[in-house]
Amino acid sequence: MSRAGPADLVFVNGAVYTVDAARRWANAVAVSDGEIVAVGADLEVRTIAGRDTEVVDLGGRMLLPGFQDAHAHPPSSGLDLLRCNLAEDYSLPAYERIVSEYAAAHPDADWIAGSGWSMDVFPGGNPSKEALDRVVPDRPVRLWSRDGHSVWVNTRALEIAGVTGDTPDPADGWIVRDEGGEAAGTLHEGACDLVEKHVPAPTAEDWLAGLRAAQSYLHALGITAWQDAIVGGHYPTLDPYLSFARSKELTARVVGALWWDRHRGIDQIEDLLALRERGRANRFRATSVKIMQDGVIENLTAAVLEPYLDADGRPTENRGKSFVDPEELKAAVTRLDADGFQVHTHAIGERAVREALDAYEAARRANGSNDNRHHIAHIQVIHPDDVPRFRKLDVTANAQPLWAVYEGQMLNLTIPFLGPGRAGWQYPFGSLVRSGARVAMGSDWSVSSPNPLWEMHVAVNRTSPPAYEYGDGNPEPFLPEEAIDLPTAIAGFTINSAYVNHLDAKTGSIEVGKRADLVILDRNPFDHPTDQIAEARVVRTLVDGERVFDAGDLG
Ligand SMILES: [Zn+2]
Repeated sequence: MSRAGPADLVFVNGAVYTVDAARRWANAVAVSDGEIVAVGADLEVRTIAGRDTEVVDLGGRMLLPGFQDAHAHPPSSGLDLLRCNLAEDYSLPAYERIVSEYAAAHPDADWIAGSGWSMDVFPGGNPSKEALDRVVPDRPVRLWSRDGHSVWVNTRALEIAGVTGDTPDPADGWIVRDEGGEAAGTLHEGACDLVEKHVPAPTAEDWLAGLRAAQSYLHALGITAWQDAIVGGHYPTLDPYLSFARSKELTARVVGALWWDRHRGIDQIEDLLALRERGRANRFRATSVKIMQDGVIENLTAAVLEPYLDADGRPTENRGKSFVDPEELKAAVTRLDADGFQVHTHAIGERAVREALDAYEAARRANGSNDNRHHIAHIQVIHPDDVPRFRKLDVTANAQPLWAVYEGQMLNLTIPFLGPGRAGWQYPFGSLVRSGARVAMGSDWSVSSPNPLWEMHVAVNRTSPPAYEYGDGNPEPFLPEEAIDLPTAIAGFTINSAYVNHLDAKTGSIEVGKRADLVILDRNPFDHPTDQIAEARVVRTLVDGERVFDAGDLG
């Protein structure tokens, strides 16, 4: 007991999973001034409740440390929620209904801007302009796909952009054309810019609104902290974050990963140092740097060691792209490491993962060990030789578990191009854990749902949560030997993500002296079969002992 006098808040009669080093359980927790002051059995904790103490009877519900998402894009994802949002549905009629309702509700919007459609809904992944013309003939419509690699537009948008049958494909993308050779309504990769440059960019006010919407959404899912995986570049959100934090509206703890411009090289480090210097206010700080080392497998831009296969299973010449030259990457990471930055790398293919590990190894050799806590996000394919290097180099594996399932994209666009052997090296969470690596977890929202319970469900079962079926899913578990147990999955969303965010000294577990960042679930998932983890629901979320979400179940 660290203080005298009654506590402000006491939780009793709960299943308290502390996620402390011994993974102890308790029944009760007391909080004073936003700090956890007691953890233990009901009787002992009740003794520090006074007349003014708020006593919450959990009625057997589960109390956990607040969830932390180690890789998400909340401001842009929040903007998606506020705009024409197709992400919750999965058919052309539903999309048409949503677009038509949104247009009617926003009669003054010059553009109908939105996102979230799924390629699997359309033949060949290509929706048509006619489908949108039917519901919005008079104003331009621009809708990003769920994965952010394609846009769907109507005729008016193509007219404004001046895209006709005669417009050539840009070097880094293509315009889908109909039988008559006219632009058909879908643009891929670099071709998206033909329209995008005409869509009004979000203002600082828009970013703030996005941040506000995102924060409420994430708190409702039990999330109390996150790492924003891109601050800068296409997401100029540093100043919106700072003003949100200074006005005390920011109730989550956030680490921002500053965007590494791969065309600028080492010269940008001076700028990053200046951004870090001013990028700190209340619960926000920009102390990480994000380097995107490759693309994605579905369009063959992820960097792989052996060439991709073609549709007939024959090897091609294509090994994907290293966005940063591997030697330059070593130099950049070594400099950033010497300057005390954490480096957060995006690596999907097994060559990109190896290049990132090589860069961290070079930094370690040059600078010795330190507390910068580097991590590699996505880690879709890891060569088996590289699995033990995470532990050896003390690099955290930052996993997005919702992707580790059989769904349309995996079956049609990933396994065939990787080939049977290498396809079995995907999302090797179990192997990483067995090798002693630290695994932190995140969503990559809005690429995927940020619901940590759904993500844990996949990490444990390697099948989609029942409510999250997209495309021609396969009920078989995906590489079940790579499943991890529930305690490890919970650690991935609590103490291990707190570690990556340098927040573990004061959050990430329920221990005396830590801040009261907590989540209450409607049930204890340990008491139910593992294929029901996704059914658990968040009842209340607290940060520093204050309620930031309340479903109303506890009275
Ligand atoms: Zn991301």
